Amino acid sequence: MRLAERAQNISPSPTLSIDAQAKKMMAGGIKVINFGVGEPDFDTPENIKQAAVKAIADGMTKYTPVAGIEPLRKAIAKKLADDNGLQYEPGQIVVSAGAKHSLYNAFQVLCQEGDEVILPAPYWVSYLEQIKLTGAKPVIVPTTVENNFKLTPAQLQSVITPKSRLIILNSPSNPTGAVYTQDELAALGEILEKNNIAIISDEIYEKLIYDGGRHVSIASLSPALKDLTVVINGVSKSYAMTGWRIGYAAAPLPVAKAMADLQSHSTSNPTSIAQAASLEALSGTQEPVRQMVAEFVKRRDYMVERLSSIPGVKCNRPGGAFYVFPEIKPLLGKSYDGMTIKGASDLAGVLLEKEHVAIVPGVAFGDDNCFRLSYATSMDNIREGLDRIEKVLKELQ
Ligand SMILES: *Cc1c(COP(=O)(O)O)cnc(C)c1O
Repeated sequence: MRLAERAQNISPSPTLSIDAQAKKMMAGGIKVINFGVGEPDFDTPENIKQAAVKAIADGMTKYTPVAGIEPLRKAIAKKLADDNGLQYEPGQIVVSAGAKHSLYNAFQVLCQEGDEVILPAPYWVSYLEQIKLTGAKPVIVPTTVENNFKLTPAQLQSVITPKSRLIILNSPSNPTGAVYTQDELAALGEILEKNNIAIISDEIYEKLIYDGGRHVSIASLSPALKDLTVVINGVSKSYAMTGWRIGYAAAPLPVAKAMADLQSHSTSNPTSIAQAASLEALSGTQEPVRQMVAEFVKRRDYMVERLSSIPGVKCNRPGGAFYVFPEIKPLLGKSYDGMTIKGASDLAGVLLEKEHVAIVPGVAFGDDNCFRLSYATSMDNIREGLDRIEKVLKELQ
């Protein structure tokens, strides 16, 4: 059977495949320290689970409106107003089966063949594939560890062409944990506004910000920028709800309507029960978020300190999310046990095979001088995992 060209061009998610490989080794009885995970290691808070149990008992088990139940869309509008200073009508909000699905809908309704989409690297793996699926051309813009992996106005300006249609911004970032300040976003926003370039702003790690930092949505900086922006967010990361599959988008009305229409012919509404749970997540106590942030910050600090002490490793202190993204440029070209480490991919292979540590090589995000470690795992695992990584890195010659 022939596969469509569209399908032939899709690469499977490398983060999920490394996770799968590690889990397979674990199932075989090997103790693998898994730094590959992209989800909080905490359980979904009890009040949220109970809201789902109640939804089932109450018979909330039928189709809902495609874009989500009204109370949830109202709660999202309230959250966007309270947290981000953004005013949206519930009709401008589309709830989907995870933020990944929201992103997919947004790219599908905004991009087409002949368009260029600006994609700062390192980027989250699915952006590239989702852009390609629309027929648009991804224009990858590498950023540097020195600039904390943030796109500069000069870099942005240099890639703009008459075909530039859209940019994807992700703050706090996966994989780098970088957080853009209001001034940085304003400088980029000015250029985007002048060139009428739409923005997809992925704010899924909004709540996971450290050191008193503040999340700013680029859409909140001016009415013109709000008209150019699709805000993407969801409950997966903030409320440890990855399995529930609820994300959402807030957009100018015609865009929101197009996204809902597209969704009406694919998945229809996201799960009714998960919608009830998400309503509780957004409107119930926020204490579990605070506890999660307090734990993450301890782990981050420990990891940054350990990694920075290894010669040849440069590790920024990320302001958000739950990843560190160390760079190992000076170590590349050295070898371990006869194997040459040309990039982080080779290091990932050695670490998994010899030391049973799973990391995600930066090649997955467009920069193989670096690798991503998630700290969504216990402090004991982090300690032991870093011991093993340090051993390998120090034995490179
Ligand atoms: C996890 C993640 C998402 C998707 O989350 P969902 O579980 O689909 O809601 C989107 N963007 C980034 C950057 C992520 O890391």
